[in-house]
Amino acid sequence: MCLLANQNCAALMGTTPAALVGTKLGARLDPAMAERILESDRRAMESAEPITIEEDITFPDGEVRTFASVKFPVSVGEQEPLGICAISTEITAQRSAEADRARFMEELKTRNEELEAFNYTVSHDLKGPLLTINGFVGFLEKDIAESNVEKIRQDTKLIAGATAKMAALLEDLLELSRVGSVQSTPADVPLDQVVAEALTRIKGRLEASGASVSIQPESPVLHCDRERFIEVFQNLIENAAKYMGDQPEPWIDIGVREGDGGVIYFVRDNGIGIDPRFHDEVFALFGRLDTTIEGTGVGLAIVQRVVSLHNGRVWVESEGVGKGSTFCFTIQTAGDRARC
Ligand code: ADP
Repeated sequence: MCLLANQNCAALMGTTPAALVGTKLGARLDPAMAERILESDRRAMESAEPITIEEDITFPDGEVRTFASVKFPVSVGEQEPLGICAISTEITAQRSAEADRARFMEELKTRNEELEAFNYTVSHDLKGPLLTINGFVGFLEKDIAESNVEKIRQDTKLIAGATAKMAALLEDLLELSRVGSVQSTPADVPLDQVVAEALTRIKGRLEASGASVSIQPESPVLHCDRERFIEVFQNLIENAAKYMGDQPEPWIDIGVREGDGGVIYFVRDNGIGIDPRFHDEVFALFGRLDTTIEGTGVGLAIVQRVVSLHNGRVWVESEGVGKGSTFCFTIQTAGDRARC
């Protein structure tokens, strides 16, 4: 029974000190919760020493608050303790800040590891063209000394090629970093509009490939960053055209299908296909399966970044080489409105 309570204690119980005195504190709490508090009160009684505990108390409105309490027995003279006195300080905000901090540190650690891996890959791949340039500058000096005009032409051509490769790599890397840093507010955009814009931007290359493109007539609405998703379709459709091989009747099919977790958007082609062993590798930064075909290996990393910023997932389905590929993705945004 409560013999004395201050304003704060009474306010916590949703009452006044006068109303609290003479009643059981636990009567205002859930029985299991009250029993837990009583149990620590008993421990304080029996210990004859102050005890310090941290308690999570669930209040009748369901709110859980954390308290650091010192409980100590109260006795008159040498007599057995009459009861306990508890002094509690609320530490809910402190505990929540600590949990946030721990989560933040964990996230930071993961990001640092990703950044380290990224730095390694970038420096490694940027070194390739630099080594080529360096090597051919050496040959160039020798060929100039010998006045070998034909070789000088070849050297400069290879140096120009490596420079262009490096410029393309840097351009794509810049785009990849922009994807993570510049974001506009998501908006509702019909899929066919996004695809139409992507097709306009790659018109020339698409026509050169001779591939026929079909889009499913029903067009759901994506809740997304419009510009980024134009880029996603641009990358996927461009790849579909680029990796056609010698397919005599190339086609690209763009559409949606229902999956377990909602709508799946896809770009399907009847091109060279991808061995299932490399289905993950193609999404890695600079992950390329055929280095004889022009490219930087950054396109699918950009697609993956955009999709994951929309809380989605991207993957490829292909039975293997020569069997065509289907690149699929899901997206989820606030309220999951992308699941049309
Ligand atoms: P890039 O096309 O510049 O090499 P991407 O990141 O766009 O870079 O693609 C990575 C790799 O995935 C490509 O080099 C290719 O080997 C493979 N790939 C991508 N799209 C397809 C596709 N539609 N069919 C077959 N292979 C593909």
